[in-house]
Amino acid sequence: MPKIKILAIEDEEDILALVHYNLTRDGYEVLTATSGEDGLALARQNAPQLVLLDLMLPGMDGLEVCRQLKRTAATESIPVIMLTAKGEEADVVAGLELGADDYVSKPFSARVLLSRIRAVLRRHARKNASDADKDVIEIGTLRIHLGRNEALVEGAPVELTFSEFRVLCCLARRPGWVFTRSQIIDAVRGDDYAVTERAVDVQIVGLRRKLGSAGRYIETVRGVGYRFKDA
Ligand code: CA
Repeated sequence: MPKIKILAIEDEEDILALVHYNLTRDGYEVLTATSGEDGLALARQNAPQLVLLDLMLPGMDGLEVCRQLKRTAATESIPVIMLTAKGEEADVVAGLELGADDYVSKPFSARVLLSRIRAVLRRHARKNASDADKDVIEIGTLRIHLGRNEALVEGAPVELTFSEFRVLCCLARRPGWVFTRSQIIDAVRGDDYAVTERAVDVQIVGLRRKLGSAGRYIETVRGVGYRFKDA
C-alpha cells in the first residue's frame, strides 16, 4: 500500500523536526515546508492526504494558506489540521470557518497529534463513503431520523423545536468535527428565523436538557464552538 502523504507547514524548525520524526516513524510519508508560500506550492504539486498548518507563519500566514487551499479545486478537499498557540482561539474560529477540519494546540505530544491525524483521516474516509444518502444517524443511545424530523433517546421520542432539531443534525452528522457558532447558524438558517451566536448557545442548552442522558454527546469546545462526541 502506498504511504499516506502528509504535508507539514511550520516555521519553527524544532517543531517541524519533531513532527517529521514522529509521523515518519508512524508510517507516513512527510513533506515539510517552513513558509506558507512553499507549503502552498508543495500542496499543489504533491496532493497530500492531509495538511498540518501552523497559523503564525512569516509572510503568508496560516489562515491565508488555508483560504488558498480551500479556494482551489485541486486542494479544497485536503483536510487541514491547524497547529495553534495559546490564545489563538479567534484564529481557530476563523480557520474552521475557512474549512479547516481540526486544530491541535501547542505544545502537543506526538501521541495527541497522531491520534488527531488518524481521527481526521477516518472522518474524511467516512464522509466520502456516506455523505448524502444517510437518513438515520445512530450514536450511542441516540437515533435521529432525518426524513421524519424525529429524534429518539433510548427508543423514546424527544420533543424538539425545529431549530433544535437542525442544530442537532448539524452536529450529529459529523461526530468529532468542531463547529463554530456561525457554522451552526448557517446550517440552521433557511427558515425565516433570526439566529444569533447567543441563540445557538440557548439552543444547545435546550438540546442538552431535552436529550437527557444523550445530552452529554454535545461537547463544548471552549472559545471555539461545539462538537458531537466521536464515539
Ligand atoms: Ca509559527
